[in-house]
Amino acid sequence: MANRTEAKTLLEVLDYGGGPHAALVAPGGPTLTYDNLRAQVARLRGQLHAYGIRKEDRVAIVLPNGLENVLTFLAVTATATAAPLNAAYKLEEFAFYLEDTNAKAVITGPEGGREIAKAAPGGPLLHIIAEIDDQGQVTFTEAVDDAEGVDSNHASDDTNHAGVQPMEEEREGIPLPGPDDVALVLHTSGTTSQPKRVPLTHRNLTTSLRNIVATYQLSESDVSLCIMPLFHVHGLVASTLSTLQSGGTIVVPPRFNPLNFWPVVKEYGVTWFSGVPTMYQALLNRAKSRGPGDPAPGADTLRFIRSCSAALPPSVMHDMEEQVGVPVLEAYGMTEAAHQMASNPLPPGMRLPGSVGPGTGVDVAIMDEAGVLLPTSGKGEVVIRGANVTLGYEANAEANQSSFTNGWFRTGDEGIVDADGYLTLTGRLKELINRSGEKISPREIDEVLLDHPAVAEAVAFGIPHPTHGEEPSAVVVLDGEATPAELVAYCKTRLADFKCPRVIHIVEQIPRGATGKLQRRFVAEAFSGQGATART
Ligand code: AMP
Repeated sequence: MANRTEAKTLLEVLDYGGGPHAALVAPGGPTLTYDNLRAQVARLRGQLHAYGIRKEDRVAIVLPNGLENVLTFLAVTATATAAPLNAAYKLEEFAFYLEDTNAKAVITGPEGGREIAKAAPGGPLLHIIAEIDDQGQVTFTEAVDDAEGVDSNHASDDTNHAGVQPMEEEREGIPLPGPDDVALVLHTSGTTSQPKRVPLTHRNLTTSLRNIVATYQLSESDVSLCIMPLFHVHGLVASTLSTLQSGGTIVVPPRFNPLNFWPVVKEYGVTWFSGVPTMYQALLNRAKSRGPGDPAPGADTLRFIRSCSAALPPSVMHDMEEQVGVPVLEAYGMTEAAHQMASNPLPPGMRLPGSVGPGTGVDVAIMDEAGVLLPTSGKGEVVIRGANVTLGYEANAEANQSSFTNGWFRTGDEGIVDADGYLTLTGRLKELINRSGEKISPREIDEVLLDHPAVAEAVAFGIPHPTHGEEPSAVVVLDGEATPAELVAYCKTRLADFKCPRVIHIVEQIPRGATGKLQRRFVAEAFSGQGATART
């Protein structure tokens, strides 16, 4: 293939990286070159095949951020379809996602994965443990229960520890994914309590990677710091895969840590990173209380900072730019779009605070309810079009019917496009709580609360929050005995922590609008100022 922009699958993206050039770095740990990455992916692909994983299979991945996560993702997408899941889910949530994705196997770290594999409603899944050694070499082993039911690891076959194999040899006999094969399935919160399943093909993803590389002029000399979780398109596509597409280097710490953030940026010569506004607020707060020995924010190598997945307050953008001395570029992303749809450009392009910038290789327009595209500055639903956009939700004809109009995908966000093509988001038409970029369906919370024996009615909603942007809250009517604290604790047994309301109001009657119908928006407005008084 003549040049890397022609890569149509994630495996082809890997074919280009300069051999000895650093591809992946674990802070304080190993660095893997592109040669090593390719060889490991080839070996792991062989292992997956030996475990019986085939192209049409789906493999759930539950791993913390790290080199083993990136390698596992690349190996799985080069063999079958990856379904990365948030490790913070409760077993009930894992059961739903494993069943919904029809996962054939689950890959976890050495600890705690057995419970997840057993949570699958159809019986325990093939459970593969991914481990990484000091040299950054990842191995897969199949976990099986011994006679006492205690976990033990067994090497599956003699492909294990077989050493590095050349990519071409390992490709033989194992079908390669094509551009229209599904590389990745993720879920997005829906207006029902059931999340919607979004398939993204290799073509969707590689299109998005090219768009992101072009937007930020990424090259081999770029070093990105991945601080977003790798089970979400933001961390996967923007921070990680787009860097591989450009032949650059990705630094992958286990998590975002404001305490050692700038030392890592400086030590590894980071040139850019992408995060959510909550992280930038944490960095600004940290800088305010900077003690002796704490380095000043910023680094000579930094080119820009990207913010996406939640609204960036102009004050945070301004303060970051002032402190760090590089442009802060707000972008607009979405799972269904294989992440990026729009972004403010690098200088000399104009950055418009409060705007998410113009479409980045993606058509962006505004549509009214009837499906008519609106002229410049008309306010309506943001719609998008491009080869990055999913072809449709899986097994959800209703959502596809309402989400696609005349070839445009309806984002559920409301906005305005100005005469320069800059998009400003003005609101949301879909029911969704955006807590630091993590999306929560209020109906999922309603249903959990309604399962509580003392709850007769429940309505969950988002309230403004100074650092998370929004936070879930709920109002309930009881027909038994329960305190707000008990209800919050009950939610925590059923839902991942980030989805649990911090504040639950107990009322005699849920306020209704003029029509008498329960309206979430109306309830949210009635209670959004009351967080502090009812805090449990
Ligand atoms: P996700 O599928 O988790 O990436 O969430 C996509 C949603 O995040 C979008 O439909 C928006 O509602 C929201 N979002 C993404 N970027 C921004 C942004 N820059 N400002 C406000 N909301 C955003």
